[in-house]
Amino acid sequence: MKAQEIIRDPNEAVIGLDAGDALRDAVFGRRAWKLAQLTALGLPVPAGFALSFGCVREIGAGGAMPALPDLGPPGRLHALRSSPGARAWSGPDALLDIGIGEAAIGALTERLGEAAALDRYRRFIAAFAHAVHGLDPEVFGSGREPGDAAGLRVRIADMLDVFASRCGTAFPQAPKDQLEAAARALARAWQGATARILREARGAPPDAGLGLIVQEMAPGTRAGPDGEGAIQTVDSRSGAPAFEGDFWRFETGYGRALGPRTRLALRDGAAEGGGGGPTLAEIAPDALSALGDACARIARGLGDAYRIAFVLQGGAVAILDAVPVRRNARAAVRIAVDLAKVGAIDRDQALLRIEPLSLVEHLHPQIDPAARRDVFGTGLGASPGAATGRLVFTAEAAQAAAARDEETILARVETSPEDIRGMHSARGVLTMRGGMTSHAAVIARGIGLPCVVGARELKLDAARRSLIAPDGRVFREGALVTLDGTRGEVMAGAPAMIAPELGGAFSELLDWADAARDLGVRANADTPGEARAARGFRVDGIGLCRTEHMFFAAERVGVMREMILAETEEARQAALDRLLPMQRADFVEIFEIMRGLPVTIRLLDPPLHEFLPGGPEEIAEFAAVTGLAAEVVTARARDLAEINPMLGMRGVRLGVVMPAIYAMQARAVFEAAIAVNRDARAPVVPEIMIPLVSANREVELVKARIDAVASAVEAEQDARLAYKLGVMVETPRAALRAGDLAASSAFLSFGTNDLTQMTYGLSRDDAGRFMRDYVNLGLFAEDPFRSLDLEGVGELMLIAASRGRARNPALTLGLCGEHGGDPPSVRFSKLAGFDYVSCSPFRVPIARLAAAQASLLVRAPAVSDDGA
Ligand code: PEP
Ligand code: MG
Repeated sequence: MKAQEIIRDPNEAVIGLDAGDALRDAVFGRRAWKLAQLTALGLPVPAGFALSFGCVREIGAGGAMPALPDLGPPGRLHALRSSPGARAWSGPDALLDIGIGEAAIGALTERLGEAAALDRYRRFIAAFAHAVHGLDPEVFGSGREPGDAAGLRVRIADMLDVFASRCGTAFPQAPKDQLEAAARALARAWQGATARILREARGAPPDAGLGLIVQEMAPGTRAGPDGEGAIQTVDSRSGAPAFEGDFWRFETGYGRALGPRTRLALRDGAAEGGGGGPTLAEIAPDALSALGDACARIARGLGDAYRIAFVLQGGAVAILDAVPVRRNARAAVRIAVDLAKVGAIDRDQALLRIEPLSLVEHLHPQIDPAARRDVFGTGLGASPGAATGRLVFTAEAAQAAAARDEETILARVETSPEDIRGMHSARGVLTMRGGMTSHAAVIARGIGLPCVVGARELKLDAARRSLIAPDGRVFREGALVTLDGTRGEVMAGAPAMIAPELGGAFSELLDWADAARDLGVRANADTPGEARAARGFRVDGIGLCRTEHMFFAAERVGVMREMILAETEEARQAALDRLLPMQRADFVEIFEIMRGLPVTIRLLDPPLHEFLPGGPEEIAEFAAVTGLAAEVVTARARDLAEINPMLGMRGVRLGVVMPAIYAMQARAVFEAAIAVNRDARAPVVPEIMIPLVSANREVELVKARIDAVASAVEAEQDARLAYKLGVMVETPRAALRAGDLAASSAFLSFGTNDLTQMTYGLSRDDAGRFMRDYVNLGLFAEDPFRSLDLEGVGELMLIAASRGRARNPALTLGLCGEHGGDPPSVRFSKLAGFDYVSCSPFRVPIARLAAAQASLLVRAPAVSDDGA
């Protein structure tokens, strides 16, 4: 049946499946559109025609039936199928074998044999009565069906009588009458209240239309093999080439539900199907290779990997449908890259097709989706990936276990800087308190450690070293538990895991991302290990090196404490002189790793009391080592305590009040840079960054001091120094006064963690307590510590960017809060004209892809074939 043979309504109510692009999905539905596309690709799609939404609406409301094409000579059967606007909206069931009646039996008998032809007729009467008149098949009587032709004839005569008496009309013998009645019935079914509620629940709009498709059916022949199946040529879990699917062989050539059938594997080793018997490859090798070719042709033609529904008729393939292959995040990357490599899509499309956050599935171990999860607690998924280990409750226990090569999950009410080494030793970290930018969350993301924070329903009983779940279960130290830091779940036991995968398609896609993006991606890295991880993820530099983390190591924190507690400037300087070589060594190592790339060192930021010994035991220990009286240490710690330390003496205020600290740090940076750059290889350009600035006078003062240190080091070392000095914009005032700051700064870097905290007046360490309620109630669309608040914080940043650039057009702008790895925030940074974002090392791949997508935004986004 050719399109031109079809009588067309002026409104294109009816159109042939070979009408190509004229068959628009918005008018005829998704399936009809797809079949037209497959037909246009030259694939063996059974001929047919489609009825538009408007036409179906009309006939469902009792309007006139449009002129339908002739259904051909007796014995030619047709299928009537639904074609809604999106697959998810379903549609009334298909009716097969339209056209069977007394006149068709002769032709069918020739192909199938008389008994098979009559059996098919018998089944159609029942199916038609059900679809069109709502008659329960039971009304035709159940029990053993006669197997021979004579018995079947008697049975059919009975059924026709029952039909006539129940429906008040004779069973329609003419194919045209059968088709029209069925089309009207399906149209009405779509308009029924139940069908409407069901599809609206699946996201359909109230006025969603239904198209109908009429397609020729080739009833099985005795030439065999006959059957139906589904096939795809990529593995849904990895995206690698593989035959997946199954095949149901019709033993008697009857078709689905019309006779016995046997499931066959596509070929040996295929992922699905089969019970050890022959494979499709053995019984119909040509068909399997034709199906493989069809998959390849569809992939090139429609730009995606598809799963094909097919029938086999006497060994010949007919394609009934194709839907995009279901895939997990890893397979999605492999499929997109492979499609681009064969030219089915271009690289930009491949880049736009992958959700950046889905890349976390490549970066970290994941719980196997098929594994059972015995979840006993939930919190915020603060650092993605999954980890299993024995429960421990102290950093020391985690370190001791690591020394014995045992894997642990460290559970704490919340973590503090002293826990960092324990965190490094653990496989995962769980805290009962804290939000997305709490200490545990930031450190865990930095080192790529799965982490769940704010699991408030869990009770941590430190004295008994146990964790009590809301369901009453008690998990003691040593219990085997698993964290899913992506979902924020805590589980009992050790579910099966899938290992990370960073090579192959993943790295190829990211190479393409780098070629497509014009927004820099740097890493927040505080240690050589993090710098190495970041370099492995091919960063453009370090955007934030938080120097305070360098002082928490056991052998350093003591000197740091001596420096803080020093009573005289001389004593303070003596402690700083001991810290200098340690700090310099840190920078030398990081600069070496980052050769040729910018490294932004942030001067000391946290309030000093964070470094001081905590409980009486620690104080006593420190006092014993230093020879100070415990009371003196306690009193000094008390002196330093602040009511609101995050708004107290921290950041640049420390630098202003205790200039020797920043002087030591600047010296360490400069000496390290000179040492590393003596070697002629790619030099490093250090960037020194001043935290928590709120007025340009602070910058001028600190800058003058740092420049003086630079000059001194240059003179001492007889070397020239190239460095930049910049400012963190993390107070609202700094954002508003960015014009002033830009006059004394080479760069401004938005510290969006503090900027969010201060713009909202919302503690980043305490927001976890209520954030979930706020998001659930819709008060916040998202946790603003996770995804940048574009309306408020974003506006401040735009003001700062424009005032800064107006004053200093060469000003470099960056973002280095946790938002640097959040795709919408990355997009914002690109649109706002920033030069780079900086994020945790393990977020770097996500930011690279998000940055590429942001750069490609000007082009039309790729359309996915989910029909929605
Ligand atoms: C910030 O505030 O965004 C920032 C990067 O600094 P920190 O998280 O160390 O306060
Ligand atoms: Mg900050």
